[in-house]
Amino acid sequence: MKTLKDIELTGRRVLVRFDFNVPLNESGQITNAKRLTAALPTITRILNAGGRLVIMSHLGRPNGKPSNSLTLRPVLKWLSEKINRSISFSKEITGPKAVQASKALKNGEVLVLENIRFDSREETGDVSFAKELSELGDVYINDAFGTAHREHASTSIIARYFKGCCAFGDVMFKEIDNVNKVLSSENGPKIAIVGGAKVSSKIIILKSLIDSVDELIICGGMAFTFIKALGGQIGDSICEADKIDIANSILEAAEGKGVKIHLPTDVLAAKDFSSSAQTKYCDIYEIPEGWQGLDAGKETIEYFSGVIESAKTLLWNGPLGVFELEPFSHGTRIIGEKIAKETKRGLFSLVGGGDSVAAVEQFKLSQDMSYVSTGGGAMLEFLEGKSLPGIQAILSNN
Ligand code: AMP
Repeated sequence: MKTLKDIELTGRRVLVRFDFNVPLNESGQITNAKRLTAALPTITRILNAGGRLVIMSHLGRPNGKPSNSLTLRPVLKWLSEKINRSISFSKEITGPKAVQASKALKNGEVLVLENIRFDSREETGDVSFAKELSELGDVYINDAFGTAHREHASTSIIARYFKGCCAFGDVMFKEIDNVNKVLSSENGPKIAIVGGAKVSSKIIILKSLIDSVDELIICGGMAFTFIKALGGQIGDSICEADKIDIANSILEAAEGKGVKIHLPTDVLAAKDFSSSAQTKYCDIYEIPEGWQGLDAGKETIEYFSGVIESAKTLLWNGPLGVFELEPFSHGTRIIGEKIAKETKRGLFSLVGGGDSVAAVEQFKLSQDMSYVSTGGGAMLEFLEGKSLPGIQAILSNN
């Protein structure tokens, strides 16, 4: 993997694609700067090496048209304060003025281009747009893991104009390296916890993980389709009746490959989907009609905690219950805390590809995990074993 340290940066215009798709409030202030903070190592390395940094990113979904509410100016302001230097801005994304602005940069200076999705050619992966963008840099770095699964002009197509002089940024390197730690055959026993609402959105990841982990915990709303497949009474719990065959085939495939599957044994069930609903603990195979399982039960939490203790490498994708709604956050929080505790004892823990990232943030556990992914959809596709265009483009142009 060619990274920043393998490329000459001094005195060169370093064109970097970041994923600065950050949430903004109504007054245009950034409400979560996680993706910006994650980019700082790449930015600092380039500037310290005397590179001339040209930043491109998208923000939101402007549908190929300029939009005042989706300008990258708030990102520029945040970065400028963080790195303590003034940053120039180009309203033009490509063309003579943008090229001129990039050529005016001196060593250690920064230029931010306007939201790249203001040009409709970005998302269509337009080759001429990619060529125009390529005129803004002498080397190209992709550090936008969150959009690595998109074949867009600035994330993938552009790399062909930087043969031998393109590389991965720090975020990309860490994401790829950490997933490889989970998918490789070293450092077992390996355990994956896959939860969340629906089996349908996790079929490929479950099938793919069976090839690389030793044990698989299936939990959250999607567990009910499996319990139903095994003959359980799940009351009104969320279930995809048309996926029961798939659930059975996943159980069979796991058995065939010697992968142990762990399912919840009890649940906290509620009369309604509301925080004021009447609740009770039930056996997961015997949930009465009119009740729905919305969180893992006490016995399940203890059982899963024991499984986690035996792991050396762990992937966590998807919550154990409706963690956004009290009193159903308990299972997700306790399991998060358990993973955090085991991480302190030497467990390698990767959180990514689902709402478990939001959960660890909610419970303030992000710092206690070995790695929390910055890319939701991209991480999910990566774990599914798909080749991501943003990664492939760098690999095939070196
Ligand atoms: P995902 O994006 O696939 O990780 O799914 C996350 C969503 O699954 C969250 O919004 C949770 O509220 C939801 N979820 C987890 N467990 C349950 C459950 N038992 N019933 C309904 N929804 C659930």
